[in-house]
Amino acid sequence: MFEHVEPFRIKMVEPLRATTREEREQYIREAGYNPFLLRSEQVMIDLLTDSGTGSMSDLQWARLLVGDESYAGSRSFYEFQEAVQDILGFPYVVPTHQGRGAENLLFTVMVREGQYVVNNMHFDTTKAHVLHKRGRPVNLAIEEAYDATLDHPFKGNMDLERLDEFLSERGEETALVMVTVTCNSGGGQPVSLANIRGISEICAKYGKPFFIDACRFAENAYFIKQRERGYEDWEIRDIVREMMSYADGCTMSAKKDGLANIGGWVAVRDQELYGKLTEWAVLFEGFPTYGGLAGRDMAAIAQGVREVVREEYLAYRIGQVSRFGRRLKEEGVPIIEPVGGHAVYVDAKRFLPHIPQDQFPAFALSVYLYTEVGARGVEIGTVLAGRNPETGDHDYPKLEMLRLAVPRRTYTDAQLDLVVSGLKSLYERREELKGLRFTYEPPVLRHFTARFEILS
Ligand SMILES: *Cc1c(COP(=O)(O)O)cnc(C)c1O
Repeated sequence: MFEHVEPFRIKMVEPLRATTREEREQYIREAGYNPFLLRSEQVMIDLLTDSGTGSMSDLQWARLLVGDESYAGSRSFYEFQEAVQDILGFPYVVPTHQGRGAENLLFTVMVREGQYVVNNMHFDTTKAHVLHKRGRPVNLAIEEAYDATLDHPFKGNMDLERLDEFLSERGEETALVMVTVTCNSGGGQPVSLANIRGISEICAKYGKPFFIDACRFAENAYFIKQRERGYEDWEIRDIVREMMSYADGCTMSAKKDGLANIGGWVAVRDQELYGKLTEWAVLFEGFPTYGGLAGRDMAAIAQGVREVVREEYLAYRIGQVSRFGRRLKEEGVPIIEPVGGHAVYVDAKRFLPHIPQDQFPAFALSVYLYTEVGARGVEIGTVLAGRNPETGDHDYPKLEMLRLAVPRRTYTDAQLDLVVSGLKSLYERREELKGLRFTYEPPVLRHFTARFEILS
């Protein structure tokens, strides 16, 4: 019954300053036509990311006040550990400053030079940490995951046949298998329980450890309840426990389904592995009872993981993102389907077919959307992809997308409707919109600091 209806009332607000079109034109020009270089005060509706940008509940704010800031043995750590044990079912928990800290710890212990790490699709930081350990990241998502317009209930699934084949050939050189729920790099698409069970069986057959990149575990569980036969009547908590029961451990960014603004963890079943993780934790993150976090942050996360598995919250959360996608579609705006758990992706190739890929249609669309209504999305396209180191040419991706990520419990449908109306009016005059050209192109991670001009 809570679908699309907020299961909360708002008792603290952060005023937003409305800007005029003239002001926005000036701001984006000063930012070199790169929305990353805008100040947040210049943005009305910030859909750059859903990471650490959500709103905490009154009880989370209350936990901040009673956080225990002891270096060793903090009460807030035990509260945090108990919540993770209770909700996810892993006995050992190492707090980290955020998700990538957890990845660094796990791969430092488990990945040796030249070893493979298999994932459905590696998230950027996960891939970067595998490479940093001189490991070899391999993506084995199902074929359907790469077809932007294909409808499939569990587009984040791993290809089990290829996983079995891979491990039969390269099992010796494989460090571990991971599955990312929901699959962020695949657009926030869920992974089914049958698939998770299948991965664990194949891992057991070859004696390989199996971990879950659990950043959006609750959103994934809600999709299972909605879409997978046999789970309709299960409690979300039980689905989460069932998902995790097949894995040896998980890495987590509490900035996503921890409903917190910072934090993360790596959680495991094996005591010996826990011992090794804590040795490195001291070096990279901090003493194992704070892991780079203030006690108050751990206390807020402890409360967050208990709130995130409430069904009325998830119905509202997934319902809001899905409604946002449906409203765009109703106005004729081309989007990638089906809509995932945390973001809507606008298909810029279909939106701006007259702008060639070397004029960055998705990046240009992010600039126009900002100028139109003061909303910020992020390009997932050619600028992000960078250049091929051998040929020096752009490494053109198959898709040019504008990602509109929705922070948790933060914006109302009315605010998202403003974004819909902005994209609608841009779509109506799409032929007038122009591409971009670099005026400054940094050598690495160019999307963050590049500057552009609009082609005439
Ligand atoms: C965000 C994210 C991470 C990294 O977490 P940070 O908190 O940003 O360091 C890892 N994996 C996935 C799937 C993510 O979405």
